[in-house]
Amino acid sequence: AAKYGCPADSVSLGRGTWRLLHSIAAYYPDSPSDEVKKDMNSFITLFSKFYPCRPCAEDFREWLKENPPNVSSKSLLSKWFCVAHNVVNRKLGKSEFNCDLLDQRWHDGWKDGSCD
Ligand code: FAD
Repeated sequence: AAKYGCPADSVSLGRGTWRLLHSIAAYYPDSPSDEVKKDMNSFITLFSKFYPCRPCAEDFREWLKENPPNVSSKSLLSKWFCVAHNVVNRKLGKSEFNCDLLDQRWHDGWKDGSCD
């Protein structure tokens, strides 16, 4: 990854971006209003246009066409980002993340107390 204090490369950019995206989903409402749902759809569309890794953003936009975001609740949006991230993990030859562990990873901390 890029040295701290130096421009982002695709690894440090991706790591920081997933951290933001999964955290946003983890704090999304359980029952969002229509306006919030519309805003989240816009956020994801605009994010896909401005993500500053061109091949990453192009592939993500292609995937988005067939897989529109599920913005209807926190758990469904979190799951949708988990699947989106797993698509990239697969593409990069990494192992897939178990989406049952989303809350521990991005909201509550691990059950063994290692984040306390
Ligand atoms: P990351 O993949 O950054 O993951 C960070 C942490 O998230 C992991 O340690 C794990 O705890 C957790 N995590 C992993 N998978 C999931 C999941 N499915 N759900 C929830 N949490 C999870 N890089 C490229 O080289 N080519 C690309 O085309 C590309 N496309 C990208 C598209 C997008 C939209 C984004 C945001 C990033 C993209 N990246 C791409 C970057 C790539 O996904 C990684 O972020 C980067 O390679 C660093 O990987 P990492 O192993 O540090 O962990």
